Amino acid sequence: MTDCIFCKIIRGEIPSGKIYEDDRVLSFVDINPINAGHSLVIPKKHYDTLFDIPPEELQACIMVCQKVARAIVKGVGATGLNIVQNNFRPAGQLIDHAHFHLIPRHEDDGFLTSWSGTAYPPGELDKAIAKIKASL
Ligand code: 5GP
Ligand code: ZN
Repeated sequence: MTDCIFCKIIRGEIPSGKIYEDDRVLSFVDINPINAGHSLVIPKKHYDTLFDIPPEELQACIMVCQKVARAIVKGVGATGLNIVQNNFRPAGQLIDHAHFHLIPRHEDDGFLTSWSGTAYPPGELDKAIAKIKASL
């Protein structure tokens, strides 16, 4: 039995505001929301990151993301919604049970609407493509 906080939520050992559950997936509100209605979708089996989730469970998760995202937008009257999914510490993952954030958004709510990127230096674009393709 794991010590993981989300596994404890799944087992009912810690209270959570459950929104939806089925055999494979659970959705509940985030305890520390960006905006009211911010929710999480998790596989019921413990996987550390997205990279570890088997295809069928991943498919079940993304379908629940769509279902619950629609309900959040309608329910809280949001005009936008971000799905955010962090993997490993450098990307901001704090809870090591794979999860999707569903974050309702409102016009001028003050949160990030895009990340600012910078163009590749000459030649680097092709190198990046080649490295990724070689790793597929
Ligand atoms: P991460 O940074 O790992 O992507 O996000 C973890 C999220 O889990 C955070 O947004 C945090 O507020 C939420 N969280 C952490 N502990 C609990 C908890 O005990 N209950 C609920 N409902 N959410 C939690
Ligand atoms: Zn877990």
